[in-house]
Amino acid sequence: MEMENEKNSPDIQFNKEELISYWLKDTPFVFHAINTDLDKIAEINPHCKENVRKALNGNIISEDVKYSDEERNKYFKHIIAPVKHNNEIFGAIGISVDTPDYKKFEEELIKNNEIHKTFYKYAKEGIYRLEFDKPIPLDLSDEKTFELFLNYCYVVECNDSLAKMLGYKSANEIIGKRLTEIYKHPELFLNKDTQRRFINSNFKIYNTETKGAENNDEIKYFSYNAIGIIEDNKLTRIWGTQLDITDRKRAEAELKDSEERYRLLVEHSPEAIAVHSKDKVVYVNKALIKLMDAKSAKDIIGKHAMNFVHQDYREIAEERIRKTTKEKKHSENIEEKFITLKGRVIDVEVTTIPFKYNGIPSSQIVVRDISERKKEEKIKSAIYKISELAHTIETLNELFESVHKIVSGLMHAENFYIALFDEKTNIISFPYFVDEVDETPEPHKLRKGLTEYVLKTGKPLLANPKVFQELYKKNEVESLGAESIDWMGVPLKIKDKAIGVLVVQSYSKGIRYKNQELSILNFISEQIAMSISAKITEEELIKAKTSAEEASNLKSSLLSNMSHELRTPMNGILGFAEIINEEVSDPYIKELADNIQISGKRLMKTLNSIMNLSQLEAGGNILNNEEFDLIREIQIVINSFIPIANQKNLYLDFIHLQPKINIFSDKNLIQQIVSNLIDNALKFTSSGGVSVDADLIKILGKEIIEIKITDSGIGIASEYKNFIFKEFRQVSEGIKRNYEGSGLGLSLTKKMVTLLNGKITFVSYPGKGSIFNVILPFDINPHPRMMIDKKQHNKKSELVMDARKRANINLPKILLIEDNEISIKLTKQFLSKICKFDYTKNPSTAIDMVKNTKYDLILMDINLGCEIDGLQLAQQIRDINGYKNIPIVAVTGYALRGDQERILKGGCTDYIKKPFDKATLIKTVNRILNL
Ligand code: ADP
Repeated sequence: MEMENEKNSPDIQFNKEELISYWLKDTPFVFHAINTDLDKIAEINPHCKENVRKALNGNIISEDVKYSDEERNKYFKHIIAPVKHNNEIFGAIGISVDTPDYKKFEEELIKNNEIHKTFYKYAKEGIYRLEFDKPIPLDLSDEKTFELFLNYCYVVECNDSLAKMLGYKSANEIIGKRLTEIYKHPELFLNKDTQRRFINSNFKIYNTETKGAENNDEIKYFSYNAIGIIEDNKLTRIWGTQLDITDRKRAEAELKDSEERYRLLVEHSPEAIAVHSKDKVVYVNKALIKLMDAKSAKDIIGKHAMNFVHQDYREIAEERIRKTTKEKKHSENIEEKFITLKGRVIDVEVTTIPFKYNGIPSSQIVVRDISERKKEEKIKSAIYKISELAHTIETLNELFESVHKIVSGLMHAENFYIALFDEKTNIISFPYFVDEVDETPEPHKLRKGLTEYVLKTGKPLLANPKVFQELYKKNEVESLGAESIDWMGVPLKIKDKAIGVLVVQSYSKGIRYKNQELSILNFISEQIAMSISAKITEEELIKAKTSAEEASNLKSSLLSNMSHELRTPMNGILGFAEIINEEVSDPYIKELADNIQISGKRLMKTLNSIMNLSQLEAGGNILNNEEFDLIREIQIVINSFIPIANQKNLYLDFIHLQPKINIFSDKNLIQQIVSNLIDNALKFTSSGGVSVDADLIKILGKEIIEIKITDSGIGIASEYKNFIFKEFRQVSEGIKRNYEGSGLGLSLTKKMVTLLNGKITFVSYPGKGSIFNVILPFDINPHPRMMIDKKQHNKKSELVMDARKRANINLPKILLIEDNEISIKLTKQFLSKICKFDYTKNPSTAIDMVKNTKYDLILMDINLGCEIDGLQLAQQIRDINGYKNIPIVAVTGYALRGDQERILKGGCTDYIKKPFDKATLIKTVNRILNL
């Protein structure tokens, strides 16, 4: 019989279970088809059923059949034939053969028609027929029937497959033997339960599995079918088949084991696991039930997983599920928020894995609760934010507000306050207090409230009503303020010292605090304390700085006014003494006037020193650096001392190797330093003289300026060395002192040298002289600029001017704006010969005068004693037609450091400080007017 081609072969579809039941390991399969149970057996498919029916009618059917399982198609020769006993058809046998042997098998089958023999031979199943010594009556009790079974029953025929299954080599070894002889443990194989089922199912059992042991005691599993043949109401024989299913059983057991292990693993996993299939949860483990606050799995199973996702995370969760179900990909460690059945929001990390559940593509969801981790992260970030606050926030109050906000991000903190304790005053204050019930308490001495209790113990406290009552009973606290439900306070500690207390409280039963919240507060309290303390210190510093600045401003303005008030009258005294000296010829009066001038100048010197010292001490000295020739400036100072040296008959030399030393420094300060030192040197020298050295020298590879003032004077004894730089100290002190002077010169000099980053030292030999040594850093102008040579002074003499006046030649018109009568008179006197002179005390008259007359120069007092000052008036004058470039010279008693710069910047062209002498005034006017 040729194999039919694929097209014509009938398809018989087996599902997997049927293949397991009927198709045994791809070997020829056998089934029993018994008339009565035909329907059951032929359930396989209608085509097969039809073939079995044909076989029961005595036909042998042979055909090529294609079996398809999930993996591939298989072709078998399928034969179904009737089974006869004593020429009676009592069944049908179907055999499928996939071996090339099938032809031989078929030939044999057809040739001798001894179907059951052929079947015996080829069948993998053990096939047997049992008979009894005596037929067993059906009306016996079960017990009796069992007994007879075992004793009467023997094997009449069987195949080799059966013998081998039971541990024998061939059928011959067991044919004719009783069951009790064949089975070493018949009670296992023929157990009462199986026998009872056999009897009760009318002596027919199919695919019954039983456990047996073969002769070498190996446990085996069999599946068997058996049918008892009844004749004359007696059981006469049994036909049966038996299959060794030990391997399958073991495999099943192993699978079951591993499934069980897996199930146990999942069930008891600390990770919460769920299976989501066909849009609903189908499985949850214990951890997930707990995580979701459910009572049992039932609360969750059947619901869509999305029901448990916080709405803010739905999109993320949907994408995660889509990725697993549609793309069959893992979604690992996705951070989401879930809502539990009790409405609790939890932070979770979700991993979803594609998974087949009952053959349906599903997803296994592993949920890890990361609330703790998130909380830790939140606390860490809160601590960081609080530490940052100290730098980013302006005021203490803003700091409290921000801390309140940060705490609110960690817990309910509608009622929140910060109490601070001042150890010095023993007072507790409440700089930040937000409370729905209580008003902010006034600062008060320590009482017996909960706040004070925390302050005292230095320990965090969660006072619920019970705890409060206990403390109350122990007389630790008193009831102050409105009673809250939960009161939670933590000490704000710096180095184990509580500077205050932070409190959060609740008045509503809906908001309760637990130890967890308390420990969070405690965690962040140290950082809060540090930030608060830093801010308090900063605020105190700012306050101190502001008041220091205020004091310094006050001092500056006081100094500035003093300067003005002292210089203006001195202007009168010295000026008029000078005029008297000029005007009178009487030598006695001349001498008197001279004395006034000498004393006045000495007073001015002391005054200048005091002013300078006070100003240096008031601080805020800004160096007025410029580029200048040091040699030239020292020379100018020396020149001013030549008259004094000459008077004392002393030499005054200037020794410098370099013709020019250009430096970038404060010219004024250097002049004062040199001037003070030459002044002292001349003062304390009576014979010989003073020499000044200036040089640029190199020390340790660095260029520095050295100025040396050497005298041949009285010297300074070593015991005085330490205090001559101190204010008001002199070698010769007290009522017997030999030398005039304020004792301020050297301390001022030292201060100025220090200001210039320099150093002053001296060596002295009493009776021989002293050498004062000043070292200054050599700085060169970082932005060199052209030195502008000031115009050479016009040396035209006053006499020439006078002649001009007399000839009524165009004399310059000068206006003096000055509120001090004496200054007006003096200036008028000084200038009378060289100009046409007008004056006014009143700023508004000044404006009118300026408008009406074209002045060539304006002399402007700065403090005019009215609401408008000289600088403002100068600005107004500048706006008048024709006055944009007219020189305005400030004549003022404001002569502190920086005043000149300020005044020149304020719109004046030049500056003369009071008191001034005639020569200075005339020289300045001449220079400006180019006369
Ligand atoms: P003053 O010169 O006004 O007294 P100083 O502060 O300039 O104040 O000097 C303080 C004291 O140092 C002087 O009184 C004097 O005793 C001493 N002294 C300063 N310079 C010299 C010097 N070149 N020779 C001797 N003694 C000096």
